[in-house]
Amino acid sequence: MEKIHSHISVHNSLAQDCILSGVFEEVNDELKELLRTGQIAPKPLLVCSGGTSSRCAANGHWTLDLRNSYQQINFDPVSKTIEFGAGNNMRSLLKNLAEFDRSFPTGLSTLPGIGYIITGGISPLSRSQGLAIDQVIEMQGIWGNGEAFKICKPNKSSSPEDQLIWRGLCGGAPFLGIITSLKLNTQPINSIEVWQTSLEKDELIELIQHAENWPNNISLQWIWGEKIKVFVVIAIDIYKNKKSLEQLKKDFQENKSIEISRIPGLHKMPDFRIENPCKQNHNKFHSEVISLLGPAWGLNSHHLIKSLTNLMSKRPNEGCFIAAQQLGGMSSQISRTSTSFIHRQAIWKPWITTSWEAGDQKAREQSLKWLEEVWMIFTPLCPGVHLAQMHQHLAWHQEETRRAFEEWLPDLQKLKSRYDPHGILPRL
Ligand SMILES: Cc1cc2nc3c(=O)[nH]c(=O)nc-3n(C[C@H](O)[C@H](O)[C@H](O)COP(=O)(O)OP(=O)(O)OC[C@H]3O[C@@H](n4cnc5c(N)ncnc54)[C@H](O)[C@@H]3O)c2cc1C
Repeated sequence: MEKIHSHISVHNSLAQDCILSGVFEEVNDELKELLRTGQIAPKPLLVCSGGTSSRCAANGHWTLDLRNSYQQINFDPVSKTIEFGAGNNMRSLLKNLAEFDRSFPTGLSTLPGIGYIITGGISPLSRSQGLAIDQVIEMQGIWGNGEAFKICKPNKSSSPEDQLIWRGLCGGAPFLGIITSLKLNTQPINSIEVWQTSLEKDELIELIQHAENWPNNISLQWIWGEKIKVFVVIAIDIYKNKKSLEQLKKDFQENKSIEISRIPGLHKMPDFRIENPCKQNHNKFHSEVISLLGPAWGLNSHHLIKSLTNLMSKRPNEGCFIAAQQLGGMSSQISRTSTSFIHRQAIWKPWITTSWEAGDQKAREQSLKWLEEVWMIFTPLCPGVHLAQMHQHLAWHQEETRRAFEEWLPDLQKLKSRYDPHGILPRL
């Protein structure tokens, strides 16, 4: 039953502060009828799983909040798969799996919900385990046209239509339907070492170049705000070559103090973040994030980091920062044409976070402009976009969509016109 309440309580402060038309809490007959007849106004209907992005709610729009009604989690010890309701987040997924000595390549935070999985899902373990979307073997939900579906991962003998639909849903689901549950393959739980330290810019440039030659069980993450912090994640159990660990030590400056923690799995991973002084400030801040994708940077990382330095010195406030995570390995073994995550050759996913004091329109404009300027610096090396966050409300939505899906976009749009003919779900 829908509720006419005007707010939802979510992690994302911009979404949290929106005044909504109302909230649906389940996909009942009434909502299905509204989808079938296209009678939801205004469009789009927004969907909230983990509630961490700025587009799980918007002023004047309806949100379908899945968090109360889709809490099921069932692990099957025989197939080692898990059925996972769309109201859960990554923390509950990892916690549940750890009880069975299993795991899943979650991202750098366990707060996101299944939005993390259906938009691709880049984990610090993706180089050895693949993307989150690559673990999905079944999806259940409701198309934008109100019809229910349950679809399994196709094989070579599946019909072209099933292959097309699967491709659309894997990375493009938010445009086509509402996912209510997923069946996922799981991974054996592995010990992990996390190395954390702070670096100067020149050291970061060197480390980026070294990281591009690391084995697939090691990934580099870095975050650049007031300082530069790096976060190296090493999957220990598959770590066969001791020499590489010694080499890794050498890749850091000899005199660097590195904080090394050994943890039993991703469920115990320390937070990857920098202190954000804006959060200690009593005023509330809103933010937007864009995620980019690109191949190895090699010697170009020098020019890139130097070019970013100027804009980093002009950050609109301390809540604005740049970060990146490393891909490659297993995530590049899947063909470009089998999912909507086409940037399979990407090695780096940088993301840009910009923020402003809530309600200050001028500051918002300046912060968004800063984000666009940083994006322009990254574009030659990272021309792709990872649509982990959507921005239908911003001027560059079309540009980010084009860069996310490239030559696949026209076919994805055709799928949308069949499965979401009234444009109930976010615009593509
Ligand atoms: C602290 C933090 C760390 C992160 N780290 C990583 C990382 O390491 N790797 C990575 O790849 N990403 C990362 N992200 C990005 C995050 O995975 C995406 O923004 C993701 O979309 C958020 O998922 P959510 O369930 O919280 O989405 P929500 O904010 O609830 O929704 C996001 C969007 O997806 C759509 N959507 C959500 N659920 C459904 C559904 N069930 N059916 C159809 N559409 C739906 C909604 O319309 C909405 O537009 C991180 C985000 C945060 C906040």
